[in-house]
Amino acid sequence: MSQTLLNIKNLYVNYETDEETVRALNGVNLKLNKGEMLGLVGETGAGKTTTALSILKLLPKDIGIITNGQIEFDGKDLTKLKEAELRNIRGERISMIFQDPMTSLNPVLTVGEQIAEVIELHKTLDKKQIESKVNEMLELVGIPAKRKKEFPHQFSGGMKQRVIIAMALSCDPELLIADEPTTALDVTIQAQVLNMMEELKHKLNTAMLLITHDLGVVAQICDKVAIMYAGEIIESGTAEDIFEAKEHHPYTVGLFGSIPNLIEKTNRLKPILGLMPDPTDLPQGCKFHPRCPQCMEICRKVHPDDRQTETHTIKCHLYK
Ligand code: SF4
Repeated sequence: MSQTLLNIKNLYVNYETDEETVRALNGVNLKLNKGEMLGLVGETGAGKTTTALSILKLLPKDIGIITNGQIEFDGKDLTKLKEAELRNIRGERISMIFQDPMTSLNPVLTVGEQIAEVIELHKTLDKKQIESKVNEMLELVGIPAKRKKEFPHQFSGGMKQRVIIAMALSCDPELLIADEPTTALDVTIQAQVLNMMEELKHKLNTAMLLITHDLGVVAQICDKVAIMYAGEIIESGTAEDIFEAKEHHPYTVGLFGSIPNLIEKTNRLKPILGLMPDPTDLPQGCKFHPRCPQCMEICRKVHPDDRQTETHTIKCHLYK
């Protein structure tokens, strides 16, 4: 039976400054089981990275504030933990890889030293054990162990991202959060890194939260999908449900319409008209209503709840 590893319940996060309040997350609900890969999809500004940073409590100090909700990880509410307890979880039980490998590595340390540093920080191992773990991690991501003495500038973009993944997995985390891990890479390297992540998920049984704006990436490797808009999950289900179901949130329909299709002949792609709403001044009712081609009277006034269709969950008044 699948066991829940991460359960985010009704999470609200604001970024507060003297001048304004940015409502970044507005009641996010997400569930991830052990060993599962969930793709969190949405446009820039939808709240994907804020969700990831909230899990690790890495929101900007005194500005990023969790105003409501729970983030249960293996049954413990992370929002209630003290900083010292969180330090034991970060890197060791939950690890994160960031978008741009070029800025995540230290240019003056060898890649081996950087992986060793992570292991030293979280595990009680002697020098020899650490060295053999560094070798093991590099080989795991397809880099010959002898290259551990090289510096980041001697690696290509794809190889650097592999090093970052090796670092993130070096303490055998139960959850790996990957924030747009392939966006900075060219297309062929993207495919290699994604295939490798999928293989690692099967090999290590690590749950993964993959943040992306690319539905193609999700279709390729994820078990579950959650679509985000203006700080809410507006549609979620298994990847099969999302890609094969007939019923969709109008925003998801728009996302699908924006992807080139090799089977259907289309002259022009249909972009989603308009822009994501200003998070300091979100619209009343459904947050997608100013852009929605199916907007009804009720949508302008009443915020829709999650509706369970035959296959999955959609937050929209079109479904009863
Ligand atoms: Fe469109 Fe209304 Fe559904 Fe919002 S609730 S997506 S405005 S139909």
